[in-house]
Amino acid sequence: AYLDRIAEVDGAVHAFLHVDGEGALAQAAASDARRAAGTLKSALDGVPIAVKDVLATQGLPTTCGSKILEGWIPPYDATVVARLKAAGLPILGKTNMDEFAMGSSTEHSAYGPTHNPWDLDRIPGGSGGGSAAAVASFEAPLALGTDTGGSIRQPGAVTGTVGVKPTYGGVSRYGLVALANSLDQVGPVTRTVLDSALLHELIGGHDPRDSTSIDQPLPDLVAAARQGATGDLSGVRIGVITELAGDGWQPGVMARFTESVELLVKAGAEVVEVSCPNFVHAMAAYYLILPAEASSNLAKFDAMRYGLRVVPDGDPSAEEVMRATRDAGFGDEVKRRIILGTYALSSGYYDAYYGQAQKMRTLISRDFEAAFASVDVLVSPTAPTTAFKLGEKLDDPIAMYLNDLATIPANLAGVPGISVPSGLADEDGLPAGFQILAPALADDRCYRVGAALE
Ligand code: GLN
Repeated sequence: AYLDRIAEVDGAVHAFLHVDGEGALAQAAASDARRAAGTLKSALDGVPIAVKDVLATQGLPTTCGSKILEGWIPPYDATVVARLKAAGLPILGKTNMDEFAMGSSTEHSAYGPTHNPWDLDRIPGGSGGGSAAAVASFEAPLALGTDTGGSIRQPGAVTGTVGVKPTYGGVSRYGLVALANSLDQVGPVTRTVLDSALLHELIGGHDPRDSTSIDQPLPDLVAAARQGATGDLSGVRIGVITELAGDGWQPGVMARFTESVELLVKAGAEVVEVSCPNFVHAMAAYYLILPAEASSNLAKFDAMRYGLRVVPDGDPSAEEVMRATRDAGFGDEVKRRIILGTYALSSGYYDAYYGQAQKMRTLISRDFEAAFASVDVLVSPTAPTTAFKLGEKLDDPIAMYLNDLATIPANLAGVPGISVPSGLADEDGLPAGFQILAPALADDRCYRVGAALE
């Protein structure tokens, strides 16, 4: 049924870069046999899933939305993909994304943009717009995304889906093509909070192949979602982040946010306002740390090891082949960040830029610590606006970056966050998102509060 739905709508939505119909049907048939034999492997055995094209899938193309990886077929599975397979989930295919996960609209994909199913002239968010659009348009019941600065939560907000960024180290990054290693996390994209909890439990937990993976059990996320679904939040203390709401935010997004906060109060939660004064510097710190890590990560695309290789005429040197390949293979946003990152890391500037950004990162973590001393979770709108028109911010990198204002602090501090739908904005009838942030390792709180809003 999902393959039929993809055939029907994906020409217009373009959520997928690659659909593996044959593979998915074979996996589904195997699951049917297990069901008949009473040997299902997990609660999600047989439930199809779409995977963001930044995760290595053995035997299936993995492009990261880039020309430089066109034609690359990984010889191994990312740990999260291996866990999906072990749990019996058929993999429908790979979803579209901004090139190397850099962007907030999926317009930086080298393979053309994804369209928001709510209005095909609008963006589905990014970088994981493909995964969010696939779930929003019923092309997949579940998807995986990755969130480095908001790429699961912001697409969730603008497509009316649920998106989760787990605690840093809570889900393995092995086989995830790194954008910024200290910020990246893999997480669920689903239609309901409970579905995310089920998927998160399946992909999460310790992995010896990821040196930053946390070696302790996950909290009981499914139980937390079920508890929240009872609608009782008595005893839960919720902090509204002063710096992430108010002027400059789309009125319809704010109206749905305020309404959701009122619902939490009705459910018995205690709501206070909490200031996180350093959050206003999160964007500036992020856009030094991220390009620094990304420029280093992307050095491996050298025309020798993976994918594309452009050989100029004549008798080119290795360096000329590298230059021609990287020039042809990388898009503008990727080049912009390589240049920024290389500059920020150069000797003489290192302390002034990268060093300062790292200090700011510490201050942001301290803001979280101070806030979580008095509240259980923090909340804000997920993104300042609903989905904007395709092309509207493409030539204005700063305007594009501002979409992640509210999501970036969680990545800098490594804390978990969820975005749940908060309703449709009055002025445009498009979905708005409500973000819930919790202390590291307390992902269960995001699920409890998120489920109470459904
Ligand atoms: N939009 C942000 C960026 O462009 C977030 C990216 C992400 O989370 N992968 O960096």
